[in-house]
Amino acid sequence: DSKLKWADMGNVYDRIIIGDQQFDFVKGVKNFKKQMVSYFPEEEQAIDTYINLVFKAVKTSKNYYISKAISPFLNAIIGKFLKTPFYKFSDKTTDEVLRSLTKNETLIKVLSGQYGDYGLPPKQSSFSMHASVARHYFDGGNFPIGGSSQIVKTIDPVIAASGGTILVSAEVDEIIIDRNTAVGVKMKNGKVFKAKNIVSNAGIMTTYNTLLPTTTVIKHRLKEQLKKVKPSVAHVSLYIGLEGSPEELQLPKTNYWIYPAEGDHDTCVQRYLDDLSQPFPMVYLSFPSAKDPDWSNRYPGKSSIDIITLMPFETFQKWSDTSWKKRGDEYETIKEDIAQRLLKELYKQLPQVEGKIHCYELSTPVTTKHFINYKNGEVYGLDHSPSRFRQSFLTPRTPIKNFYLTGQDIVTAGVGGALFSGVLTTMAMTGKNVLKDL
Ligand SMILES: Cc1cc2nc3c(=O)[nH]c(=O)nc-3n(C[C@H](O)[C@H](O)[C@H](O)COP(=O)(O)OP(=O)(O)OC[C@H]3O[C@@H](n4cnc5c(N)ncnc54)[C@H](O)[C@@H]3O)c2cc1C
Repeated sequence: DSKLKWADMGNVYDRIIIGDQQFDFVKGVKNFKKQMVSYFPEEEQAIDTYINLVFKAVKTSKNYYISKAISPFLNAIIGKFLKTPFYKFSDKTTDEVLRSLTKNETLIKVLSGQYGDYGLPPKQSSFSMHASVARHYFDGGNFPIGGSSQIVKTIDPVIAASGGTILVSAEVDEIIIDRNTAVGVKMKNGKVFKAKNIVSNAGIMTTYNTLLPTTTVIKHRLKEQLKKVKPSVAHVSLYIGLEGSPEELQLPKTNYWIYPAEGDHDTCVQRYLDDLSQPFPMVYLSFPSAKDPDWSNRYPGKSSIDIITLMPFETFQKWSDTSWKKRGDEYETIKEDIAQRLLKELYKQLPQVEGKIHCYELSTPVTTKHFINYKNGEVYGLDHSPSRFRQSFLTPRTPIKNFYLTGQDIVTAGVGGALFSGVLTTMAMTGKNVLKDL
């Protein structure tokens, strides 16, 4: 009902920092192109073709996703026609496409400098995933006014007006299946809710590994499906509170993506996974308080910064079964070490914030597991490899009657992907083309 308002992030939405060089991603596709050509004048043709390919790849995605929502009967007739143009792009890695356009390693590194948005470096990620993020940002970045909690606060009354409700701290223990039909959910506290349709948004791994009864999982060989996809990477995030308003601290709205000077993205990731003391392969700095025009009304004289980097789940796995906030000294020491490394990256870019930090807290992959129940602390559900987009089971419909999937795993990571998955699941459940009402 249009209550959620978004603030524009300004002209430069992303800054790609490679060693001591920086490259700005500028809002508006013409401006983006002009800016890239100013950095790489001899690569104008490659940049032009790249932008065209991004648009072409995204254009094929609508039919591909619609094929997930139409009936199996219709899919058998027109599914191939809907999906084949998309596969032309999704079967290729981001690196394959970029390398077919240019030999300039820096340009390749810059153009794939948003890979943190979907978690997989260019030699492993599908070009379709890359294109969807790149295309989205050509129009600039936006931040929810009042903070991301506004997304829930504004959708809550819409759900209530339709007779629905949101329960929090309400963990589902098991989906109740009766003669291959979903009929309800049993909660951790023993309470049972019955419904005509059950939709799981908990991610396909969590749903099939822990929420469906074992007999159902075995009957439909659902674990065989899971072997064909991989969980995405895990991450750490440093949440920082500062003294001083965003203006006083001169915080930008632009996101900073910081990369080591040496090696392509995949090499940097591998080097780090082999030895975590090597430079972070990617550090993302975000300045939520600077992006939110309402921030200073709520928190005058204060600011916030988030810093994210990749972190293998295994680093923190041994604390997987410990309780939140009671994981012990060794855990806290490792966290502090990582936090200090991340703060150093921040001070390199924004020396003026040194000495202004009031508090900070690092989330780890086991924090992600604790709060959103992804077993391996994965940041974005399933990873976005070319083969992911070939999996016909990543759809709203399941082999179980009245039981549906939704969420990022059936589309892609991102708030947009998650929202669109809701549209697809609604289409599959109702048989109506709700897309035309949007
Ligand atoms: C640090 C970080 C930063 C991000 N930044 C951005 C960004 O700037 N822009 C953007 O577009 N996207 C961003 N994303 C990605 C985006 O947040 C996700 O892709 C999106 O939230 C996925 O939505 P979803 O509904 O599919 O899954 P989720 O948001 O993961 O929701 C799944 C829900 O299921 C619940 N659940 C799990 N098991 C159970 C159970 N047994 N019972 C009850 N509930 C259960 C979980 O608690 C969770 O609330 C970011 C992600 C992360 C981790």
